[in-house]
Amino acid sequence: MLILTHRYRIYPDATQEQTLIEWMEICRSAYNYALREIKDWCLGRKCLADRCSIEKEYILSPELKFPNEIQQLNNLPKAKKEFPRLGEVPSQVLQQVIKQVHVGWKYFQERGFGFPRFKKFGQFKSLVFPQFKDNPVTNLHIKLPKIGVISINLHRPIPAGFVVKQVRILKKADKWYACILLQCDVSVPDPVPHGHPIGVDVGLEKFLATSDGVLVKPPKFFKQLQSRLRVLQGRLVRKKRRSKNYEKQRIKVARLHHQIDNTRKDFHFKVAHALCDSGDMVFMEDLDYRTSAKGMFGKHMLDAAFGQFRTIVKHVCWKRGKFFGEVDARGTSQECPECGGEVRKDLSVRVHDCPHCGYKTHRDIAAGQNIRNRGIKLISTVGQTGTETACADDLPGIEVTQSRQVSKSPKKRATRKPKP
Ligand SMILES: [Zn+2]
Repeated sequence: MLILTHRYRIYPDATQEQTLIEWMEICRSAYNYALREIKDWCLGRKCLADRCSIEKEYILSPELKFPNEIQQLNNLPKAKKEFPRLGEVPSQVLQQVIKQVHVGWKYFQERGFGFPRFKKFGQFKSLVFPQFKDNPVTNLHIKLPKIGVISINLHRPIPAGFVVKQVRILKKADKWYACILLQCDVSVPDPVPHGHPIGVDVGLEKFLATSDGVLVKPPKFFKQLQSRLRVLQGRLVRKKRRSKNYEKQRIKVARLHHQIDNTRKDFHFKVAHALCDSGDMVFMEDLDYRTSAKGMFGKHMLDAAFGQFRTIVKHVCWKRGKFFGEVDARGTSQECPECGGEVRKDLSVRVHDCPHCGYKTHRDIAAGQNIRNRGIKLISTVGQTGTETACADDLPGIEVTQSRQVSKSPKKRATRKPKP
């Protein structure tokens, strides 16, 4: 099974845009209602049965069952009679909203933290159409239930043999996109380690350094556009919230953010392809870059978006049949790639100069060579299985999930598991 996601720009006309925005608002209220039910159920069971809470009391029948996914889905038709507004949205889209609540809930249960939050006005930005009887996409239009045909810019054709499984309508700034999930019934073998290996070290001074000695300068998109962003943002805070002028200004800010995002992603893809051109196996560190984003260079770490870059490299490698592996990142900059001896150096030392064997090179290149060495060791000891990580489930286009947080042992006391 091969699944790809293609994102296309769509151009709804004024009425269609109005409808889509209205649907999103209705879905938002359904989302919040479903979450409220769950939250009330939890609060009603917070304190023991024989005593009262000092702050507030939730009185719910003890027989009340946990509002699980199936129950909430079954309640939708009843709710539609009470709130006819819900009937405006295609029912499958509405069902997806309930499913979304429970995905968040399940995730919270597993991790033990991160209770799902209510969505504020304007925070609900996408609609999922999960099923299509026949192909909704033609060269010029995409046909969606209840809303009709919307013009689409099919900048790349849908590959032969693929069927449209799902369409997600996405709003970014004032632009609209359709993320189309394509599926094909072929099995693709995972890339096997072979050929020329390269180790890639990423950093702020040099965006990346490979073991072959290639250095790529860091792009400073954010810095370039930052002064402009500051001006726009400064104008925004002086506007009255929810007013017309506020909305106009908000869109200007959102567009700029969107532009930065696009430029950065484009750069990442180009570099990733350049990497695949120069080698057959790519190794990177398994760092969680979000910890370093909290430090002194936080803004620049976020600007470079190393996490996204790694995901993109992974995807490009998979697409081009190159092997991708992640290696242990500990001390890659403190080791000599030639003799393996320890060479202590702090951040200000930019040259690797080994006192044991006399090997001398750029600091980041040495780190890249260490990563390469570790990668080769990894595939020779572990074998191919277990290290293969290339996959395409969250790529490209739609929200790149930033969930690299490792789940700690969930606190049993704080979050009680609901009995279904
Ligand atoms: Zn050495």
